[in-house]
Parts: sequence; C-alpha cells; structure tokens
Amino acid sequence: MGLVDIPQATQVRLLRVLQEGEVKRVGANDTMKVAFGTEGGLFVCAGCSLPVFTSAMKFDSGTGWPSFFTSIPNHFATSQDHKMILARTEYHCVRCGGHHGHVFDDGPAPTHQRWCNNGVSLRFIPTPGKAA
Ligand SMILES: [Zn+2]
Repeated sequence: MGLVDIPQATQVRLLRVLQEGEVKRVGANDTMKVAFGTEGGLFVCAGCSLPVFTSAMKFDSGTGWPSFFTSIPNHFATSQDHKMILARTEYHCVRCGGHHGHVFDDGPAPTHQRWCNNGVSLRFIPTPGKAA
C-alpha cells in the first residue's frame, strides 16, 4: 500500500475524535497552522491515511477552517446532516467512516464548492522539495 502504518491504539483514539463529528475551532486552527502554510503536499485521513485532498485543492475561505474547493474523487462519501436548521451535507472517509466536515456551495470557481474540514481529521504530508 505504501501508506503509513498507524498503531492500533492510536487508530482507536483517532477514530473516537473522528466519530465525535464536531471539533473545537481553536484546536483545529492550531493543528492546521503549519499544514496551511505555503508547502505543497497531500492531506490524508487521520483515521486511515487515505489521501483525500492535495494542497492544490485548498483555498483561504477566511473562516479559519481548512477549506478546499474539491476533493480526491471517490475518497469521501456524503450524507445529510440535520443538526442545524438548514440541512448541511456532511462528508466522511469512505474507508474508515471518519467524519471530516461539511460541504457548502459558496466556494470559489470552478466548482463553487467549499469543503470545510474540522482540521483534526487530516494529516498533512509535505512533498519533499516542492515548497511553493
Ligand atoms: Zn479514513
């Protein structure tokens, strides 16, 4: 597979985070500060290391949350979330089912999508020698 092996105990702990569904904003910001610099690389699911976004897919939404205008095809599944008054589209990892965030339709061209991620569900793997 070539993906990083995660010890079983760590996986269980991460899955608990992923399955909570909602994550505090401050923690997400701290976690993603480095990842959202100028480096090029790959964002993988924190639960199972499935690649889900590339750094080329991210944009500055101004919300403080990691945001992407698209995702790697077929690596997320979506479902409707009725926790708020307006239904939101929740998305989660197809492999481990970990909750990652919500998709909104107010993003930039060409997709006009905004994949808002809770931050802790991602791990960032910089591409060696490809700092932008
Ligand atoms: Zn996963």
